This record gives sequence, C-alpha cells and structure tokens, in this order.
Amino acid sequence: MAHVDRQAWDVVVVGAGGAGLRAAIEAREAGMRTAVICKSLFGKAHTVMAEGGIAASMGNVNEGDNWQVHFRDTMRGGKFLNHWRMAELHAREAPDRVWELETWGALFDRTPDGRISQRNFGGHEYPRLAHVGDRTGLELIRTLQQKIVSLQQADEREFGAYDARLKVFQECTVTRVLKEEGKVAGAFCYERESGRFFVLEAPAVVLATGGIGKSFKVTSNSWEYTGDGHALALLAGASLINMEFVQFHPTGMVWPPSVKGILVTESVRGDGGVLRNSEGRRFMFDYIPDVFKEKYAQTEAEGDRWYEDPDNNRRPPELLPRDEVARAINAEVKAGRGSPHGGVFLDVSTRMPAEVIKRRLPSMHHQFKELADVDITAEPMEVGPTCHYVMGGVEVDPDTAAANGVPGLFAAGEVAGGMHGSNRLGGNSLSDLLVFGRRAGLHAAEYAAAATARPVPGEREVDAAEAEALRPFSAEDEQPGAVHDGGPAENPYTLHQELQQAMNDLVGIIRREGEMAEALKRLAGLRVRARRAGVEGHRQYNPGWHLAIDLRNMLLVSECVARAALEREESRGGHTRDDHPAMDRRWRNINLVCELADGRTEADPALGQIRLSRRETPPIRPDLLGLFAKEELVKYLTDEELSR
Ligand code: FAD
Repeated sequence: MAHVDRQAWDVVVVGAGGAGLRAAIEAREAGMRTAVICKSLFGKAHTVMAEGGIAASMGNVNEGDNWQVHFRDTMRGGKFLNHWRMAELHAREAPDRVWELETWGALFDRTPDGRISQRNFGGHEYPRLAHVGDRTGLELIRTLQQKIVSLQQADEREFGAYDARLKVFQECTVTRVLKEEGKVAGAFCYERESGRFFVLEAPAVVLATGGIGKSFKVTSNSWEYTGDGHALALLAGASLINMEFVQFHPTGMVWPPSVKGILVTESVRGDGGVLRNSEGRRFMFDYIPDVFKEKYAQTEAEGDRWYEDPDNNRRPPELLPRDEVARAINAEVKAGRGSPHGGVFLDVSTRMPAEVIKRRLPSMHHQFKELADVDITAEPMEVGPTCHYVMGGVEVDPDTAAANGVPGLFAAGEVAGGMHGSNRLGGNSLSDLLVFGRRAGLHAAEYAAAATARPVPGEREVDAAEAEALRPFSAEDEQPGAVHDGGPAENPYTLHQELQQAMNDLVGIIRREGEMAEALKRLAGLRVRARRAGVEGHRQYNPGWHLAIDLRNMLLVSECVARAALEREESRGGHTRDDHPAMDRRWRNINLVCELADGRTEADPALGQIRLSRRETPPIRPDLLGLFAKEELVKYLTDEELSR
C-alpha cells in the first residue's frame, strides 16, 4: 500500500456541527491539541439549519420555569425511556450553555424588558426556546466558529501558528476509527477534493457526526446524514441503543416533489399556526392521547386563549409532542381528509397579521415563496411527516459521554443515544449538543492528558482501511465465487434509492411485523449488492465514490433500526406498531442494544451484521421520580418499579 500521511493530535473531533465545535472548544481550552474534521464545508452542518431555538429553562418569559419542569417535560416527551441522568444533566446545564453563548457573542431575540426571549414549542410546559427568529442554528454555529477563531488567534500570538492547537480539516471524511490493543488510536480519513488518504493519530476521538436521515426517502436531513458516526462506533466495537426510535417531524413540505421533506419549523405552531384537514376541521382535538388529556385544551377557544394567558388555559393540541402530531396527520391523510398533495393544511395566514408572520417566521415565508410559490401570509401551507431525527445512538456514560466498551471513544449530539428516550422534544437537540458537546470535549481532554503511552495505529489496520475505501474502484474485477460475490458492478445511486424506498415504505412512521421482516430481507440483498458498488473515474472529488463508501454506514444503521423495531412489540414515541398499537409498561425499562456481529459479514454479507440484545435501564433516582405525581407514574412505570 502507498504511504499514508500521519499527524499526531491529542483529541480528534469528528463533526463540526454544534456538538463537535462545542467539544473542540472545551478540549482546546483544557490545553489539548485538537483536530476537528468535517465532511462538508466548515459551518455547513445540520446545526446551521436549526430554526426554532434552544430549549433551556431560563424562566425569562414565565418565571414558573426551572430545570425540574424541563426535566419532567423531557421525560414525558421520551415516554420515560430517556436515560434519566442525561435528562437531568441536560435540564440543569442548558441555561448556562445559552448564557455562555451570549458571552461569546450570540445575539438572541429579546423580551420587551431586554432579556433573552423564549418561545413555545410542542411538549414544553412553558415558553422555553431561546431563538434568533427562525434562524437559531445559524447564530449558534456563527458564535461557536467565532469562538474558535478567537482561540486560534490566541494560539497565533503564543505559538506563531493559528492551527497550533486547534485545526479544522474541512471536506474530509473519516471512514474508520482506528484502534490499537483495544484502545482508540486515531481516525482514517480521506480528503474529498483530492481523494488523498491520511491518518489523524490521537488517544481520544469524539464522534459528533449527527444523524441517519439519508437512509429514508422523505427527510429534512441533508446529504451528510448517512449515519457515519453510528457505523464508526459499531465498527470500533461500541454499542448503539434506542435505534428503533426515529422521529418523523409532523411538518415537512409535501409539494413540489423536488422539495418534499424540507422542514417547516415547529415555531409555526408555537407562534399560533393551526392544522386543518380538507374539511377545515382543527383535527388535533380528536387526537389527544389519555396520558396528555389533562394538559391540553379541549376546545379551540381555550387553545386560542392560551397564547395570551397561558397560566389560566391549557395549550392547544397542535403543540403535542411530535410523534403524536405526526401520527394524527398520517391518520387524516389515510382517512381521505388530506390536502391535494397528500398532506394537511398548516395555517398562519388567518391567525397573525402579515407583518408579524414576516418578522417572526422570515425563513418560512421565504422558503414557501421561493420553493412552492405559496405566500404564507395569504394562504395555508401543505405539510406532512418527514424523517427528521434519530433518538437512537451510541451508548454513552451520561456524565462523561464516553462510549460503552471502547476506551478513548466519546460521542455527543445527535449521534449519541439515551438522552431523548423514545421521542425528542423540539429545541432539546440544540441544548443537548451544547451540554454534552462540552462534556465530551472535557472528558476526552482529561482522558488524552492521562494517556501516558499513546497507542499508535498499526500499519495493518491502516492498510485495511485504505483497501476498504478503495474497493469501489475495483468492483468490476470481483469474480464469481470470490468472498465478496461475483456479478456486475452496482451503481451506488441505485442502491441508495432502493435503500431509501425500503426504509420509507417498510420501517417508516407506521410499522408492521411482516413489512419489517421484508425490510430486513431487502437489506440483506442490498448488502450483498453493495459489496459490488462500483465507481469509475479517479479519486479527485468523486461523489459516486463517496456515496459507495457511505452505503456501508447506511446499511448498518438501517439494519439496527429495522431489527430493533421488529423486536419492540409496543408503540412508544417515535416507534409506532400497527400490530401493537398501545404503549406497554413492560417495555418501559428495556433498551434494545445493537452491536456488531463479528466476522459474519465477511463470510456472507446476506447474514445480518447486527447482534441485538435487551438490557434493563438503570432505575430512575427516587428524588427525580418525586417530581411526578403518582397518578402519572402509574401510566408509565412497571408494577415492580412502582412498588420499589
Ligand atoms: P450536525 O450539526 O449535523 O453536524 C454533523 C457534523 O458531522 C457535520 O459537520 C458533518 O459534516 C460531520 N460528519 C458526518 N459524518 C462525518 C464523517 N464520516 N467524517 C467527518 N465528518 C462527518 N433542533 C433543535 O433543538 N431546535 C431546532 O430548532 C431544530 N431545527 C432543525 C431544523 C432542521 C431543518 C433540521 C434538519 C434539524 C433541526 N434540529 C433542531 C435538529 C438539530 O439541528 C440537529 O439534531 C443538530 O444540529 C445535530 O447537531 P450535531 O452537532 O449532532 O450534528
């Protein structure tokens, strides 16, 4: 194999969204030489697309808010499957992370008396989302980038080089976490533009790669969300949890087809927008589940009064958690009461003056005008569910973000599992990535500082990673009877489309046993064909090659989703089974754990790659349970837990 360049760092952060940048800042501030590597341009991550805001119980708009209320809302939203310690740390630390952003230069919208304004969102008892219009993620990323530049300027003054202690490798992709003697030793990477391979050596690697949406056909996610971090963790020997829980955001654009899936922010409903069916009915009043009955308005009049007087009225059911709203929209469309293009109507035009809409929802106004020729100040939008977020991810220690079972590996942000249980509340991702991004950076730095003998990736592992990355260029050479199967080379784009269609149709918003079994069969077939995913041309900026590499990751995570979804015989949060429609308390404390089934794929890619097991969740600390009324706990906890 050709010589592969190596560079030594203390901490490598994979991903430059909110979680990655926050981790990198913390590691660098702890004195560690830190490398950040990202697949796309620096600044272009999902975080930049976030619209609605950051959930943090600062109590600026309603003084009743505090971390305990935020904790309660988060656990309810996740239907009590959340790792309680993560939910606790998140609720306690989110306000500090928002204030910290302000000290670093973030300019949030203000209340009339000058405090950081907070807006309503589904599932949050009080207005809680700190925001910047509907472009909050842009400000978050801008602020973190500015902080990074200021740290680099300080390093230039001290060491004479901007990237002496903090360097960003943009448009570079990690394909393997490298290990030596069971411990993390670095990352194998390629540069998109040149196709050049290189190794970043480090004792600590933080995964902050975001989600998996590109495995589904209709999604709000962009091209980078191919589940890379999830797959990298599995391949390194870590475990994933909660993979059956995929969030379908209730409101994506449905028309025109070229923009299907693009997000319509929840702020539209938070600020007063209502959902109607083709008969003009505000149908969400028909879909309030029993567990939420006491908390939501039963009439339109009460729901409308809540916007002005939230202390004396209950919130409208348009602001139920996302899973409830997405299922309701799905049911209305199925019942023949949908909009002309297969969604429902979301209306702000009759609810707010045009200038208020343009001021509070500038991106939505622009998005619909430009992409669908719809003026949302004058007519309703058409919306429907879109794959948006994965609750499942790398199993981590709640306090340190260390990945289970792989010393030196950490994970934060959307790629980490546990925090959101079965369903994430809107706004809780931006706060999650700040809280746990910081923790991951801090603990990765501590780990690296304590690593006296640094593991160095061996030549054999580097060669294997290189050979794996190059395989798409020799796919046509594969001979029948070879370990990787014979047959003609496969087009990676065709394979990707088939994968997306299968996941959308068979493991989508409403799931059935037979369909998921069929999905697993199709995934097995795709896996065999993906071994022959072939590309032509050279390594310089070859998107077909990049996709062929990404397919490995999407197939791995899709199998996790399908296997776990088939196993969980109940409906909870982002997992709805048509054949098991009720939430079952016996599943409340069960996590489904996915691990790599060693060696099987090489021998026969048609066999599953994933080993699935059940693990009981740790008991919730009694003082945290004490924050809930007994009558509420009865709806969620098992009898054994209640008797304890
Ligand atoms: P990201 O911000 O996606 O960053 C992932 C990074 O990893 C990128 O830099 C990517 O290039 C890099 N990467 C991936 N794979 C590799 C690889 N193999 N090698 C190198 N680099 C890699 N949440 C909220 O809380 N509030 C909101 O208002 C909100 N609005 C949203 C609106 C939209 C349209 C979308 C799509 C999401 C929204 N979310 C919101 C969710 C939230 O934005 C994401 O969950 C969050 O930003 C994820 O952050 P992250 O840092 O984990 O990942």
